[in-house]
Amino acid sequence: MSTEAGPAIRLSGLRKTFGTVEAVAGIDLDIADGEFFSMLGPSGSGKTTVLRMIAGFELPTAGTVTLSDRDVTRLAPFERNVNTVFQDYALFPHMNVQANVEYGLMVRKVGKAERRQRAAEALATVRLEGYGDRKPTALSGGQRQRVALARALVNRPKVLLLDEPLGALDLKLREEMQVELKAIQREVGITFVFVTHDQEEALTMSDRIAVFNQGRIEQIGTPAEVYERPASAFVAGFVGTSNLLTGTTAEKVLGRAGVFSIRPEKIRLNGAAPSIDEISAAGRVAEVIYAGPATRFVVDLDAGGRLVAVQQNQQTSSADVAAMRERPVRLTWHAEHVVAVPVSEDPLKGE
Ligand code: ATP
Repeated sequence: MSTEAGPAIRLSGLRKTFGTVEAVAGIDLDIADGEFFSMLGPSGSGKTTVLRMIAGFELPTAGTVTLSDRDVTRLAPFERNVNTVFQDYALFPHMNVQANVEYGLMVRKVGKAERRQRAAEALATVRLEGYGDRKPTALSGGQRQRVALARALVNRPKVLLLDEPLGALDLKLREEMQVELKAIQREVGITFVFVTHDQEEALTMSDRIAVFNQGRIEQIGTPAEVYERPASAFVAGFVGTSNLLTGTTAEKVLGRAGVFSIRPEKIRLNGAAPSIDEISAAGRVAEVIYAGPATRFVVDLDAGGRLVAVQQNQQTSSADVAAMRERPVRLTWHAEHVVAVPVSEDPLKGE
């Protein structure tokens, strides 16, 4: 969309230490204009610290932050064309919705008529027309989150940073907001950088995902790449169920040494005999987890190790699947669904 050279965001050799804690341990990353980019990782992996350095709330210990070819590393937050939406909304409780949304424009001395019009547009974008007179306390959690979004969009930033913005919402609302947020991003075309520890959220919404672990990025890719071709055992386990064959189990079942990932939905439980390009392994059902549309079967393999298989409950009832516990079963999967996982030298990752 923009003709400016360079990516919307470029992080080069970015590091941040707090005393002896290395929160961000060296990050290089380009985020394209108009991209919906997620930073995914467990608590304490450094995502928020990276976001705060992009926003200007935190000064890097080393490295640079460049926004559309402009080095902003040492600029104050208000000197950067970015806005942040926080999990706790940070709305002004004594102001109505209209005043909350207009606030940033007022600070920048934008005239009243233009403020009115831009706030109305922003409220329409988040589908909250007619809510201008309400106080934040008279809104639901999802509506408050939308006001927070409108308050950021009204400034027309080039980049919007979102720090676990849906974290405080219940699951159903969260899922609705995921769809809406993605639609809004498409509509406004602003670069979104979205921090979350929820893998499903990242997979559903993002153009690309960076998976964080201990202050580093383990993998950057599209949702399908990260899910189907995990670059490390950590990514395989964090994005989806950790379904790994390692050591002697891998040798016995696959005839190969190494670490291999197989996604649970690719595994068939019993059913047709394996075809020529399928692999199978015998085991015993250790646990059955019925979850409405699907059931997860945790299976201890005769060759050692454990795999999870997910089956749709098309023909089966909860009683049928519960009866599978302790039963011997045969797991079968297509050879092409076995993904070799590169083994890193990181001593914390085991194997
Ligand atoms: P969460 O999902 O829990 O927010 P995160 O991945 O965003 O986690 P960060 O908040 O970036 O992680 O924290 C990374 C590491 O830096 C953690 O070990 C954290 O305790 C530490 N840390 C963050 N901010 C500070 C600070 N102001 N002072 C000291 N340590 C900090």
